[in-house]
Amino acid sequence: MRYDVLVVGAGPGGIFTSYELKKLSPALCVGVFEAGHPLSKRRCPIDGEKIKSCVGCKSCSIMSGFGGAGAFSDGKYNITNDFGGTLYEYIGRKKALELMRYVDEINLRHGGEGTKLYSTAGTRFKTECLRNDLHLLDASVRHLGTDINYVVLENLYDALKDEVDFHFDSPVETVEKIEDGYRITSGGETHEARTLVISVGRSGSKWMEEVCRALSIETRSNRVDLGVRVELPAEIFSHITDELYESKIVYRTKKYGDLVRTFCMNPRGAVVTENTNGIITVNGHSYEDPSKKTPYTNFALLVAKHFSVPFKNSNGYGESIARLSNMLGGGVLLQRFGDLIQGRRSTESRIRESFVVPTLSATPGDLSLVLPKRILDDVIEMIEALDKIAPGTAGSDTLLYGVEVKFYNMEVAVNEKLETCHPGLFVIGDGSGITHSLSHASASGVFVAREIAGRLA
Ligand SMILES: Cc1cc2nc3c(=O)[nH]c(=O)nc-3n(C[C@H](O)[C@H](O)[C@H](O)COP(=O)(O)OP(=O)(O)OC[C@H]3O[C@@H](n4cnc5c(N)ncnc54)[C@H](O)[C@@H]3O)c2cc1C
Repeated sequence: MRYDVLVVGAGPGGIFTSYELKKLSPALCVGVFEAGHPLSKRRCPIDGEKIKSCVGCKSCSIMSGFGGAGAFSDGKYNITNDFGGTLYEYIGRKKALELMRYVDEINLRHGGEGTKLYSTAGTRFKTECLRNDLHLLDASVRHLGTDINYVVLENLYDALKDEVDFHFDSPVETVEKIEDGYRITSGGETHEARTLVISVGRSGSKWMEEVCRALSIETRSNRVDLGVRVELPAEIFSHITDELYESKIVYRTKKYGDLVRTFCMNPRGAVVTENTNGIITVNGHSYEDPSKKTPYTNFALLVAKHFSVPFKNSNGYGESIARLSNMLGGGVLLQRFGDLIQGRRSTESRIRESFVVPTLSATPGDLSLVLPKRILDDVIEMIEALDKIAPGTAGSDTLLYGVEVKFYNMEVAVNEKLETCHPGLFVIGDGSGITHSLSHASASGVFVAREIAGRLA
């Protein structure tokens, strides 16, 4: 089959590439190959009762399928250049923000209307943070919530399904450069196109590396973020979350001068597991629906580590630490902050006595046996710093789940059009190592679609 444009991956990057291409050039023949299932067939078998932990499905429904890694996410759509990726370094700050706002409008037209946009602009918390040596990053955050995020994806799929040739459960195996474009193989079949957009996200990181090697595209190692997920009574952070929903707060530790930041805040949410290439880590989400809210807020505390010489594999480092926690806890480890400070493990009975009831069933244990001392010291110092703006954060019943790891793909060498050294081959979204969020990944899709539509017109 010959297409005008082939897109690999149907996460936000791939979806918005297809959406914009069909909007600008309806006559273009666009094919999308996705390793995972259609949205309606994406189901994680963990039900918390019969199946409590990851059974290693061939295609992980949390990470793969229409909607990509973000399909069951909290749908926090951050409109900012301050975090979520470095797209602005390629396309400029103004353009990046403009495209993020454009995608936000599309999401609103596809079921997201009525959801709230929070903003840090003019907030008093900025001053309060600064007075306590903490730094609040600037952003506008649209909170779609796990439920509305799903509705938006359903509606986007309905809008696209008759316009675009979707191939689900069809991982692309190889990419080859041919005289007038690119040839891919999937399930023993070959397909060709003039232009190829690769948007394979985190789950496609290893495959992306193979493609870069095969096509001699340069790559650079990226950082890995390591830390814990904190869960505490929602009231402790409600004065911040009610106004800002998500606050990205950064702190420089006194002991090592490391930067620790809050990440992925879920007011009245739940802690969940995440499976990346068979490694179980922790994440969190929350629903827009009031009936699904919990009494707790969760957020991650992360420290970035970047290895370059002689060891380059930052992700490998993060994976080893996550594996260690999986080995000790059979998955995610759980410890009360009070137990950590007293240098003792948490046990089933200590967790039972706690006033905070964990929203995720995890194994009580000792995070100091898993996280490197430096990272653990950073996390403890950050919790104590946050206690000044949200008293109670350093309470002994505050729960810490470990480990939370944010893996980043290695950075693929692309130019200011997000095009590789091979004309007509674009690499976008989290798979490029440039974006790490729904908003930046989606914006990168719109950006390349406009470029491609202009060229193929
Ligand atoms: C649990 C969770 C919660 C999150 N919450 C948020 C949030 O609230 N806000 C936020 O901004 N970000 C969040 N994120 C991150 C966000 O989901 C990603 O940044 C975003 O989805 C990246 O989009 P993408 O299109 O680049 O990649 P992905 O969404 O990862 O999509 C890539 C797609 O490519 C497919 N693929 C991979 N390899 C191949 C192949 N060889 N052939 C064919 N298809 C392939 C995959 O199956 C996948 O569906 C969350 C992530 C997770 C896992």
